[in-house]
Amino acid sequence: MKTLIKNGTVVTGGKSFRADVLVSGETIERVGTDLCTEADRVIDAEGCYVMAGFIDTHTHFDLDLGTTVTADNFPTGTRAAVAGGTTTVLDFATQDRGMTMQEALDLWHKKAEGSSCNYGFHMAVSEWNGDRIAEIRPMVDQGVTSFKMYMVYDSMRVDDGAMYDALKRTADLGCIIGVHCENYYLLQQKIRECREAGLTGPTAHPLSRPDIVEGEAVGRLMRIAQLAGTPAWVVHLSTEAGLEEARRAKARGQEIYLETCPQYLVLDDSCFSEPDGAKYVMSPPPRKKADQDALLDALGKDEIDFIGTDHCSFTMEQKALGKDDFTKIPNGGAGTQNRAQLVHTAAVRTGRITIEQMAELLSGNAAKVFGMYPKKGLIAEGSDADIVIFDPAAEETISYRTNLHNCDNSPYEGMHTVGKARDVLLNGELVVQNGTVIRTGTGRFVFRGKSLRPNR
Ligand SMILES: [Zn+2]
Repeated sequence: MKTLIKNGTVVTGGKSFRADVLVSGETIERVGTDLCTEADRVIDAEGCYVMAGFIDTHTHFDLDLGTTVTADNFPTGTRAAVAGGTTTVLDFATQDRGMTMQEALDLWHKKAEGSSCNYGFHMAVSEWNGDRIAEIRPMVDQGVTSFKMYMVYDSMRVDDGAMYDALKRTADLGCIIGVHCENYYLLQQKIRECREAGLTGPTAHPLSRPDIVEGEAVGRLMRIAQLAGTPAWVVHLSTEAGLEEARRAKARGQEIYLETCPQYLVLDDSCFSEPDGAKYVMSPPPRKKADQDALLDALGKDEIDFIGTDHCSFTMEQKALGKDDFTKIPNGGAGTQNRAQLVHTAAVRTGRITIEQMAELLSGNAAKVFGMYPKKGLIAEGSDADIVIFDPAAEETISYRTNLHNCDNSPYEGMHTVGKARDVLLNGELVVQNGTVIRTGTGRFVFRGKSLRPNR
């Protein structure tokens, strides 16, 4: 089966150029001008960008919080993801205490059956001891080369010493560890302050975790990584305070990777006063306008490496678990379908980043950092035929009613966007045509290698 994508502008590797792309089977066979060939299928990409399939570096599908389970599982979440141009998600397999990493990995492989885009796993680790340490190499041997640790959440958090040791032991294996950076003790105290002030609703959520709670934790992670002599990766960076700490570490010569999310670029903390404010409860919370601006500025300066969604969806009924206590509102929102259209609207169309930067932020950089490059994250001969045909003029108003997320709310409800994925090829097959998912369930596990550590 050969597919020829004609007349588009290829945007990849920091460049854009007019070229046709010939796909043969599951691979890109040629990239060039006026490829005359006998293709089985021709796709006209006139007026569109032809980009490497997007990689969502941060999803939580089928995650059991103990009190409730996310509204999206892998079949529904990946169907939404691919509709938005994402051909690979990196989901967090989660090793709960008393469980081995192998058990978590086996469980996530089962959960991911029936996925409609490709998927890999980061391993979220809730404890650090000899047994877990012994599991690192077997994870690498099974294509899991990135891990995550939390500074907060009673069921997940590890201490600074554990983080230091984990960084030190994994870097030589080509692994990278992402950290959820918030100060646990400050957060507990701020929650107490909110309760004492009689605040029980969603507006207390951002008050309980102000920017400094993140900034302090990012600064601490930077120092922990400096001591360990390893790279550090901050997941879902949301504040200027955190960004400043990362800049300081970079100025010292440290190797830093930063992820942010669309919610920190397009939402601010005024959302919590809305009648359905609970739907915005996620951690970190949407911040101030000044933080948005600082993050957009950092994107333009290539100081942030990739944009994931932290997709972690809950219905309004689930959100109501915290109607009398904001700390019981399940944290997270639906976003994996909307990432590219939001970034294009908020960052490219406003001139904060170029379309070439968008391609790297949504795909190229993640492929390098997470050991998938150049098979993924690049339009070139020999790369995997995970391809997005992105129409920069297509308009949409986001709504949970039209999103494929299995969720009755969206943090982006009613937002008008310009630019969206029109067609998507997954492993060489056309799976999205004119914005409609036409083929489901063909996603596969992505066996990842060592991080290329592009910021080294
Ligand atoms: Zn997350």
